[in-house]
Amino acid sequence: MSVLIMDKPDLKNYTLAQLTEMLVAMGLPAYRAKQVFSWLYRPGLPSFPRMTDLSLQMRGELEEQYQISRLETARKELSTDGTCKYAFRLADGNVIESVLIPEEERNTLCLSSQVGCAMGCRFCLTATMGFIRNLTPAEMVNQVCTVTEELCAKGQVVTNLVFMGMGEPLANFDHLITALDILSDHHGLAFSSRRITVSTCGLIPRIAELGEKSKVNLAISLHAADDEQRNQLMPVNRTYPIADLLEALKSFPLPPRRRIMIEYIMINGVNDADADAHLLAKKLRGISCKINLLPYNETSALGYAPSPIERIERFREILRHHGYTALLRTSRGADISAACGQLAAKER
Ligand code: SAH
Repeated sequence: MSVLIMDKPDLKNYTLAQLTEMLVAMGLPAYRAKQVFSWLYRPGLPSFPRMTDLSLQMRGELEEQYQISRLETARKELSTDGTCKYAFRLADGNVIESVLIPEEERNTLCLSSQVGCAMGCRFCLTATMGFIRNLTPAEMVNQVCTVTEELCAKGQVVTNLVFMGMGEPLANFDHLITALDILSDHHGLAFSSRRITVSTCGLIPRIAELGEKSKVNLAISLHAADDEQRNQLMPVNRTYPIADLLEALKSFPLPPRRRIMIEYIMINGVNDADADAHLLAKKLRGISCKINLLPYNETSALGYAPSPIERIERFREILRHHGYTALLRTSRGADISAACGQLAAKER
């Protein structure tokens, strides 16, 4: 029986447009799709019996053909700074993580896009898992649904989404685009694209495509301004070197007043010299961006350490002197291994 249920297509994998096509093919009028879609994303666990504005017969037909998935919370860890890490068990037993980062005026949820990652960044703990599989659109969206459901009980909402958890979102491109469509649909969760950020290590062809297909914010994990240095840290740079990446950023369509976020982790003695800051400033010239400096989160056995705070501040001063907005991001949730690059499923 449970196998049978697993085999049914999951309604949460479809955009409203796709759902409309499916329901019309079943002989239902198009407006029914809007009703079904909005039931999937309103507070309270969605189920076919709850869809009370549909006839019993329609509910029965839908239930026969489809399922509505949800994520099982395997573990939840609360950091002393309020950050909360969720481990979700997927239907096939794999575990992914999401991190909720409460700030004064917002609740940002950091989402995973893959189980593991194939990019092989030398400093990242997720990379040590290797690539296991892509998440489905439903698995991405359900991270938001589950956390939203929990916050709702406290009268709160998730305000911002960042695809900065496990995986390389642009390597799971089609599912990402579908998930973005579902998340921003105003019949459902209704996240404005201004409140969604997709972070990438720099898959150039997909960056352009993302710009064509969505209006979300773009973050780039740059981490080095020199190709030799970046090759060492991020194997993806051998395929997509810095100059090409920066060209792609120059032609990325940015809505008015928006800037690309450049992420730069500060690794002691590796990429944190004054010369690195000057080079970074030079290379970013002409790109509408702001720079986030993050102290490296030390993960055991990878052999890197964070730059001392004075070094980071000096680095930031140089960038500011060159006219850039450079912010120093403090790491959140480090005590529960929820900080950047520390998301590797322990359950496995
Ligand atoms: N693959 C995408 C999305 C992951 S975002 C990307 O690369 O952008 C996770 C961010 O944390 C990336 O900027 C990544 O480079 C960074 N990161 C990885 N390990 C880290 C560590 N130990 N300390 C700080 N940042 C780290």
